[in-house]
Amino acid sequence: MLWVLEDMFAKSVGILGRSQQIWSAIILTDPGGYPIRHTRRKERKMKKDKWIKRWKINGSNGNTWTVAIDKDGNYGCSCPIWKFKRKECHHILQVKQNGGSEIKYRDARPGNVGEVTIKGNLVLYPLVPIGGSFSTHLAATIIYDLQRSNVRPEYIKDYKDRMFKGNSFKAINDYILEHGRIIYTEFEKGQGWTNPVFTFHKT
Ligand SMILES: [Zn+2]
Repeated sequence: MLWVLEDMFAKSVGILGRSQQIWSAIILTDPGGYPIRHTRRKERKMKKDKWIKRWKINGSNGNTWTVAIDKDGNYGCSCPIWKFKRKECHHILQVKQNGGSEIKYRDARPGNVGEVTIKGNLVLYPLVPIGGSFSTHLAATIIYDLQRSNVRPEYIKDYKDRMFKGNSFKAINDYILEHGRIIYTEFEKGQGWTNPVFTFHKT
């Protein structure tokens, strides 16, 4: 399914010069000034995550496992011993003995930002224009950045499923690592964020 991204990328490079005009046109035709999907339909209700706390545990072999606890005090782990045998593994034991570092996930929502921006416990991300020549690349960048910002996994998955039905996280991340991120660099009053540019993923 990566061809969808590749195709969009080719288009966005080809007409990046024109994208400013297209972008402006999209904004001007939208009465709310927000040329995005989110304002046009209600956010779908998030599936409730049964786990209320998570910890990172470094296993032997260099693996990292996630131990979690639910509201009833039941533990789970991402390792095979718990996953397939539902047995208390030594990662869970370690957490019970105050081991591991707790993972603090952040919530996310669309905001008035040019790129994914961390604001304390909250992560804001830009709105993706419908049909913009760079929309696919922008959405892929947002998904990549939400992961780096420690946003709750179920939120990112929900967002990804809306933006890219068939693409895996790996495909999206590989794409960004190869082609770079795309971010808005200018904010114009009455226009919103403009001037999308490519930037390397490390910045
Ligand atoms: Zn385990």
